[in-house]
Amino acid sequence: HAKDSGKNAFRLFNKKMTQNASDRVSLQTDLRLALDRGELFLHYQPKVDLDSGRVTAVEALLRWNHPKLGLVAPDRFIPLAEESGIITGVTDWVLRSATRQARHWQEVDHQPIRVAVNLSPVHFKRQDVERTVVSALEETGLDPHLLEIEITESSLMQNNEYTREALAQLRRAGITVSIDDFGTGYSSLSYLHRYPIDILKIDRTFVWNMTKSEEDRAIVAAIIAMAESLKLQVVAEGVETLEQLELLRQEGCHAVQGYLISRPVVAEEVEKFFTGKVELAAG
Ligand code: C2E
Ligand code: MG
Ligand code: MG
Ligand code: MG
Repeated sequence: HAKDSGKNAFRLFNKKMTQNASDRVSLQTDLRLALDRGELFLHYQPKVDLDSGRVTAVEALLRWNHPKLGLVAPDRFIPLAEESGIITGVTDWVLRSATRQARHWQEVDHQPIRVAVNLSPVHFKRQDVERTVVSALEETGLDPHLLEIEITESSLMQNNEYTREALAQLRRAGITVSIDDFGTGYSSLSYLHRYPIDILKIDRTFVWNMTKSEEDRAIVAAIIAMAESLKLQVVAEGVETLEQLELLRQEGCHAVQGYLISRPVVAEEVEKFFTGKVELAAG
């Protein structure tokens, strides 16, 4: 009976949840300490402009070196940080570290590289996001044109009016706004044009499937066409093969990011990409 099996499923789920709950609480406790103990660090992944072959931006991706567990993936600890409110401190730290690094690249190395920071949807619930971002810029003295924020479609769904105003303020300050994992959420065309944004990042699932499936290729083409009509830039994430790169180029994608070019790496390693052109064999 559907109702009974539903009940059983609920009990099972509940037991599993309690089990995981203690893991999660201890991981949350550790995460609280991680900031002070210097266990967090950033990797950077280049974004390559397809016209020029140059790296003009990098994305900062958070890493946690846990003393016992080793490297913990952000997909595992970011949700915990969001639930517990630790995300506030985490985001402050990421913004400061990334903008300080970009300021160093600009001032010391004379490489004006834009740095992109991922922002959780929770920041758009709390109505503090412009302050958070702007105060990091003020503190590190980075030119706002060298900062990009990546938000997901779910951030656009939070608190509509506030989100629109917050993004407008950030853009007026000169910050670039990107929609990450685009195509996986529920934002429609009519939704999107109401928001002040600059870039769409096509979710990597479409990129992966576009060489195998006509439908996914059509989706990528449609996203690029839509972006063009809205005067937005398009970046494809998760590009792993030359075949994917070639198709993206044919469809008119502006920039790419993915293991084909580089995995996310430490700052000193990503710097190698700043001078000269990236060799894109299919080009
Ligand atoms: P995202 O922002 O969509 O980042 C892209 C993810 O795809 C990264 O995983 C990156 O390492 C991975 N990736 C890039 N190119 C390729 C590729 O060619 N193939 C494959 N298989 N993967 C690729 P990562 O670093 O594990 O981050 C996962 C997610 O965690 C991010 O997705 C983002 O949503 C979140 N995240 C990471 N850092 C932060 C942060 O500082 N703050 C917040 N709020 N979220 C973060
Ligand atoms: Mg991102
Ligand atoms: Mg993404
Ligand atoms: Mg993602």
